[in-house]
Amino acid sequence: MPQRGPIVLVTAAAALSALACQPLTIPGLPVLTARATSTVPAAAPATRPPQATLLPLPVLPTIVIPPAAGVDPAQALLPAFAADVQLLPDRTRYWIDTSVEFVSGELRATLQGQMRLRFVVPVGETIESIPLMLWPNDPQYDAVMTAGPALIDGSPVAGETDLGGIVLWLPLPEPAGAGDVLDISVPFEIEAGGPIGGMDPKRFGITEGVLAAPTAYPLVPRRIDGAWQVETAPSGGDTTNSDTASYQVDLTVPEELALAASGVAIDSTVNGDGTVTTRYLTGPMRDFAFALGPFQSSEDIVDGVVVRAWALPEHSAEAEEMLDAASRQLGILNDLVGPYPYVELDVVDVPGAFGGIEYPGIVFIGTLGTSWLIEPTVHEVAHQWFYGLIGDDQLHEPWLDEALATYTEVLYYEEIGRRGAAAGLLSQFRSWVRSHPDPTLPIGRGVGQYPDPDAYAIFVYGKGALFLDALRGEIGDEAFGEFLKGYFQEQRYGFATGEEFQLAAEAACACDLGALFDLWVWVGGDIPGI
Ligand SMILES: [Zn+2]
Repeated sequence: MPQRGPIVLVTAAAALSALACQPLTIPGLPVLTARATSTVPAAAPATRPPQATLLPLPVLPTIVIPPAAGVDPAQALLPAFAADVQLLPDRTRYWIDTSVEFVSGELRATLQGQMRLRFVVPVGETIESIPLMLWPNDPQYDAVMTAGPALIDGSPVAGETDLGGIVLWLPLPEPAGAGDVLDISVPFEIEAGGPIGGMDPKRFGITEGVLAAPTAYPLVPRRIDGAWQVETAPSGGDTTNSDTASYQVDLTVPEELALAASGVAIDSTVNGDGTVTTRYLTGPMRDFAFALGPFQSSEDIVDGVVVRAWALPEHSAEAEEMLDAASRQLGILNDLVGPYPYVELDVVDVPGAFGGIEYPGIVFIGTLGTSWLIEPTVHEVAHQWFYGLIGDDQLHEPWLDEALATYTEVLYYEEIGRRGAAAGLLSQFRSWVRSHPDPTLPIGRGVGQYPDPDAYAIFVYGKGALFLDALRGEIGDEAFGEFLKGYFQEQRYGFATGEEFQLAAEAACACDLGALFDLWVWVGGDIPGI
């Protein structure tokens, strides 16, 4: 059984669990103990399941911005990609204004926010209600979120929560048809807890003085075949599915803490009350996340992109290593796949909260302070392409991002000349698959279709990476390179399916890959050498 540094991998499944972006335990990481109880006065203890607690009814749109106006999101893109904001003019636009009460060292934070949303009904569709996902209420997050009532085109709408509080359904005052623009305002509040690191990591909450706050606003889910994709996320996988949108987010936080967020900060105001308000803009991104803590930052510039590492002072040495790996990976994937178009990428120290987790424009790395840092960093950075720029259904076709992100760990080592490390990773993935009672399982299943979260990780991550290596072997390095570039060009800012992935690979090699995909992805079977 492989061991890497201080992370003693007890089983193959445990080894996979340490990979990244999955809510499994990380053997070998210290178990954090609870710190002092919060002194935030208004905060009530978090309880679950959250009820449909409604905030006071807004009498006016909660943020006064003409829905078609706002600041030019092209500022969040490199000059060469400024025109990308015009690619999907009807994409959803979010304006969010959130105040964060958080004292680093305490285990509670309160976020109070208002959101205004512009949603355009897609061509050929009529909708009677719109759901807003309140993901912090999912069990993978250590938080309780309330939202509403809303104003929709000036009419008050109370809404109803469902699925354990992860969705707020808002019935429209009247049905909306194709091209109609919905103007929705909604207040929300989030109570975050902790600690979220250690043996039972969570996505949202506080660890080692850091507040991790992904999807800290009501998120519009995708529409698929004329219906909203509203469903719970099986444990062990990622949670959100959403289309690229434009965000303008004002975050008011204690001025003694450092703030890292998706997009780019374009303005900052010291309020004189101990807080500072920073405005962020994003290019087309499918989510928005931030982290707040006593970070020190350092940065590189790669192909015009600012790569910024944010780390706790006690991790300053590892922060340099993390920044170096992230910067090199950004350059490698710019060349191998296609250009990262945004002006900034943040890589943030979030101790013990998984090996790492990806969000658009920002990744959280949980392993600073251990010797297992390079692979989580390059894996999460790769998700900027596979999940971020090229979306995929994280619940039903997770291999499309996890297999690729895992395989880029191999590509990274090859590109920096560490071929032994690359071969070692592939051999490790093989041993994980062999350790499972049924190594013939395919990689193309949904998160909830594997026998358990460990099997999900073994097949989707480990066998998934082996599949990509087999695909590369079958079609050759040149066609594989063309495939990566072609797939990126076809799908950037979009949402890919496994079928489209296969078609892109077949286009690159001008060959039929049906048998290979059946064996590895769709059906499964005995594979020599595994
Ligand atoms: Zn991942």
